[in-house]
Amino acid sequence: MRQVAIYGKGGIGKSTTTQNLAAGLAEMKKKIMIVGCDPKADSTRLVLGGLVQKTVLDTLRENGEDVKLDAVLKEGYGDIKGVESGGPEPGVGCAGRGIITSIGLLERLGAYDEDLDYVFYDVLGDVVCGGFAMPIREGKAKEIYIVCSGEMMALYAANNICKGITKYAQRGGVRLGGLICNSRKVEGEAELVAAVAKEIGTQMIHFVPRDKAVTRAEINKKTVIDYSPEEKQADEYRALAQKIDDNDMFVIPKPMKIEKLEEILREHGILD
Ligand code: ATP
Ligand code: MG
Repeated sequence: MRQVAIYGKGGIGKSTTTQNLAAGLAEMKKKIMIVGCDPKADSTRLVLGGLVQKTVLDTLRENGEDVKLDAVLKEGYGDIKGVESGGPEPGVGCAGRGIITSIGLLERLGAYDEDLDYVFYDVLGDVVCGGFAMPIREGKAKEIYIVCSGEMMALYAANNICKGITKYAQRGGVRLGGLICNSRKVEGEAELVAAVAKEIGTQMIHFVPRDKAVTRAEINKKTVIDYSPEEKQADEYRALAQKIDDNDMFVIPKPMKIEKLEEILREHGILD
């Protein structure tokens, strides 16, 4: 079972990419579970055909410890299993702790079935506190991908996430598998992201184009592979799925000094 955490700047496309990638893996007959670690609880909407009604934390709050697995775990497209951790009441409590509670419950209820090929953790956007690291800190996810684009703030966040990861990589076995470029149509984007990846000691595992097919599928509460399997964008997610399945480049990232990042941005015409 490969347990994979997906990180990246807020709004960069983590949830969309995770689910579309999972659909690609499901087509390859892989057995998958997605664990949403975001209080927004929108990590499984596209594979389950809508927002989940009950998150793990809501269920615990309402039913106490007497929870059955099928109350919080739903199956959707390609038999992908989806769970949403949920979060504390807004403004109260720690989202990170909610994730621990949630993962603990999933473990007790036997959600980590030996048959699973992949478990994906779709994690909160920005590195605001230690909570961001929960799935890797708890020794669950050992493999990380960072979603970014060629925009400065996305790369800045990717570099910061690498700083966060190194601690857990040195202690535990956490490794970075690559950057996923989710295009924002920045000029020379692929070259830029590849250059940043190289500097960090990793790879740009795939360049996912920006495409309206993603929005169309999203409006219909589906992944692109599910909603429009013939679409070119569906093939992009299939390619990403294949590359991740074949990936053998796992590294402890070497985050850059901000000056180095700025130099690369300048070389690629992003900064003056
Ligand atoms: P958050 O940090 O808030 O959880 P996120 O990183 O999970 O955000 P998403 O919710 O997946 O980001 O994506 C944000 C928006 O960008 C969505 O409306 C999604 O449809 C759109 N989007 C993501 N990737 C693409 C793409 N390749 N082409 C077109 N639209 C995209
Ligand atoms: Mg998200």
